[in-house]
Amino acid sequence: MKAIRRFTVRPVLPDPLQPLSDLARNLRWSWHTETCELFQAVDPEIRRTAECDPVRLLGAVSAGRLAELALDEQFLRRLAEVSADLRDYLDGPRWYQEQLAQGAELPAAVAYFSPEFGVTAALPQYSGGLGILAGDHLKASSDLGVPLIAVGLLYRHGYFRQSLSRDGWQQEHYPVLDPNELPLTLIREADGTPSRVVLALPGGRSLHAHIWQAQVGRVPLLMLDSDVEENAPGEREVTDRLYGGGSEHRLLQEMLLGIGGVRAVRTYCRLTGHPAPEVFHTNEGHAGFLGLERIRELSGTGLDFDSAVESVRAGTVFTTHTPVPAGIDRFDRELVARHFGDDGELPGVGVERILQLGVETHPGGEPEVFNMAVMGLRLAQRANGVSTLHGSVSREMFAGLWPGFDAAEVPITSVTNGVHAPTWVAPEILRLRKGYGGTPGRWDSAADVPDRELWDLRRALRGQVVTEVRERLYASWRIRGAEAAELGWIDSVLDPDVLTIGFARRVPSYKRLTLMLRDRDRLRELLLHPTRPIQIVVAGKAHPADDGGKRLVRELVRFSDDPRVRHRIVFLPDYGMAMARKLYPGCDVWLNNPLRPLEACGTSGMKAALNGCLNLSVLDGWWDEWFEPDFGWAIPTADGLAMDEDRRDDLEAGALYELIEDRVAPRFYDRGGEGLPERWIEMVRRTLGTLGPKVLADRMVSEYVERLYAPAAIAQRALDPGTARQLADWKARVRAAWPRVAVDHVEAVAPNAAGGSAELGSTLVLRVRIALGVLEPADVEVQAVAGRVDAADGISDAQVFPLKPAGGQDLEGRWLYDGPLALDRTGPYGYTVRVLPAHPLLATSAELGLVALPMESMGDGAGLLMR
Ligand SMILES: *Cc1c(COP(=O)(O)O)cnc(C)c1O
Repeated sequence: MKAIRRFTVRPVLPDPLQPLSDLARNLRWSWHTETCELFQAVDPEIRRTAECDPVRLLGAVSAGRLAELALDEQFLRRLAEVSADLRDYLDGPRWYQEQLAQGAELPAAVAYFSPEFGVTAALPQYSGGLGILAGDHLKASSDLGVPLIAVGLLYRHGYFRQSLSRDGWQQEHYPVLDPNELPLTLIREADGTPSRVVLALPGGRSLHAHIWQAQVGRVPLLMLDSDVEENAPGEREVTDRLYGGGSEHRLLQEMLLGIGGVRAVRTYCRLTGHPAPEVFHTNEGHAGFLGLERIRELSGTGLDFDSAVESVRAGTVFTTHTPVPAGIDRFDRELVARHFGDDGELPGVGVERILQLGVETHPGGEPEVFNMAVMGLRLAQRANGVSTLHGSVSREMFAGLWPGFDAAEVPITSVTNGVHAPTWVAPEILRLRKGYGGTPGRWDSAADVPDRELWDLRRALRGQVVTEVRERLYASWRIRGAEAAELGWIDSVLDPDVLTIGFARRVPSYKRLTLMLRDRDRLRELLLHPTRPIQIVVAGKAHPADDGGKRLVRELVRFSDDPRVRHRIVFLPDYGMAMARKLYPGCDVWLNNPLRPLEACGTSGMKAALNGCLNLSVLDGWWDEWFEPDFGWAIPTADGLAMDEDRRDDLEAGALYELIEDRVAPRFYDRGGEGLPERWIEMVRRTLGTLGPKVLADRMVSEYVERLYAPAAIAQRALDPGTARQLADWKARVRAAWPRVAVDHVEAVAPNAAGGSAELGSTLVLRVRIALGVLEPADVEVQAVAGRVDAADGISDAQVFPLKPAGGQDLEGRWLYDGPLALDRTGPYGYTVRVLPAHPLLATSAELGLVALPMESMGDGAGLLMR
């Protein structure tokens, strides 16, 4: 029978147990083992359901058991301790407060927007790496005391749950999430009515949303929910699913996230007295409309559009996460125009100006498209990619927004991602480290752990994964229609003493789920090797609209269904945080073989590393930055060579097999005197000790604070309305005057130069004449740029030498500049001279995308050469 209506009966906790309710509402339990264990003690029966989920647990526990616990002195003592610990965690000064005490200028608050958040499996509001990174960002911010307010949407179906059909085709299910059964609180006004955010839509419709709050340690996470009675049926579904629906549906989601999100933050600050954010950080372009809402707010105070843009830019940080075009939202311009027209949202903000912000200017850009990443970059004075390599790929990719500049000078920096150790490190590893003098927050204490102990622990963790895999595989086969009696073979799937390789991630094509299947015979040989076998655990969800991805899943499933190898390779459906937390610690090797350089960072390998699992990966993302042969392997790649994809896959798969066969497996099975693989253990130790401290989300968040949030807050404070207007006027004046700015004449005096050569260590004196039109020397910076030159006269490895005004204007109104240029490199050398706009409120001199070069230097050649 189906119920006709559902509601939630909340448990009534006896008085002495009241603190459990506060503990359950703060998601700190998702990374705090003691809190989790306390909840597990509430009902040892329910505890079997593996993942910690206190809200559900309290909803399921019997009144009798609660009455019993209310009299259990020992339990009450533990409860008091854990509650006190949470209170200290929430109220005490942390890293951020220390920085402030030492006089650092830091933002009073930062608003952090993301379309998805992966905080815990019990709040399934993520699809993959982007969301889990956002969750880790919140947790690390909480640990560091960073005053973050996070903003997202509450998807009533979250992302889908994956299972398999008999023949291996991905099946999607969308369970209904009831917010009352989740660790969420509805935000209400003082009179008790739910706070509301409303957006006007075309045709006189409107979109209403309530705001749910999840508490992630010290950080509030506000989630907008459109499933409310005030909405028409269509609008109720705006927040139905993560990354579902067509283009208009996505646009409405992003309007709610960006515009509604700013309003939710304002509501939260009004109700709680929380300081207003001085910095807005957008995690990928999806939340980019937040900039438009802030422009509207400022327009309401009388500021014109251009000045408002300056003010918004100063306090905005934009993080780009992917060089894969499918990862970037692009809308039809006409669709955007319709939603931001006169009867749409933001009536005070001109639709033409909005459309301009999303125009693609790169080669191949399409005029009919509104690009959210491009708007994100135009509305943020500071932007970054998520690894060193991805920073440089992004500078190339978006160079069209800063014409005239080499990609190296495009103002997009990088902050390499990190992962939240308390969430991702197995409790057993944590305890081992603590036992050897390690302290939480220090991950380099593995050096003193004896080999035997480390190896026994690795084996125990591998054993746990074997058990977990068998349980999941059994459940999956039952769903695929197998009878229990057919499944006896599952008891011998995987072996706790065999080298275990993990590969789990979403299934977009660039991640190459099936690269390992390139030569099936070869793979079978590796799996079934008589003395040095390997076993592989694979998992991953394909996007519901991606049939190509589903075909890859099916290929892998079919290969692993083969009775010859099914005890050595498994595909587990429904990859998510719960599975991930078991998988990383239990694998020996984490495999990653994307098409370089399309993996912007990748974080699963970092989580594996924190648990002593070794990385075997293409040199992409973070691995390109931190790989060392002491603790892992680099799969050679054929990127950059012109060849077709098939051939490239063949080559790279061949290299992978060879590495496993010749290097990885021999090292794992090479046992010394006491039966220990000493060299392997040494690599585990190096992974924990050397990589451990780098891959942390604490490191990442402190970099965001120091390199992006703090300068953004300072810039934002400087831009009061008057200053914003001055800056906007100055930019307009410089843009208008720029066509008349020119480098007219360059002359070099080289004391020892003869016939186009000069001596190392000598100094050139440059004298140049510059035309500035109506601009003044104070508006510009004149520089010599010098360095090694290639055959086409391109300058690489450039050094910049500022030139100084020398006297006033000449008779023709041109300005003289001069300065020395030190020749400190041998070989082909060249220089050019350039003029750039200069203003103290610019973050970099490339900001306006304006530069004047000598005629000869246009294009990519250097100007004046000496060979
Ligand atoms: C870490 C993580 C990811 C991201 O992994 P990548 O290596 O970046 O692809 C995806 N899903 C889950 C469940 C994760 O824990």
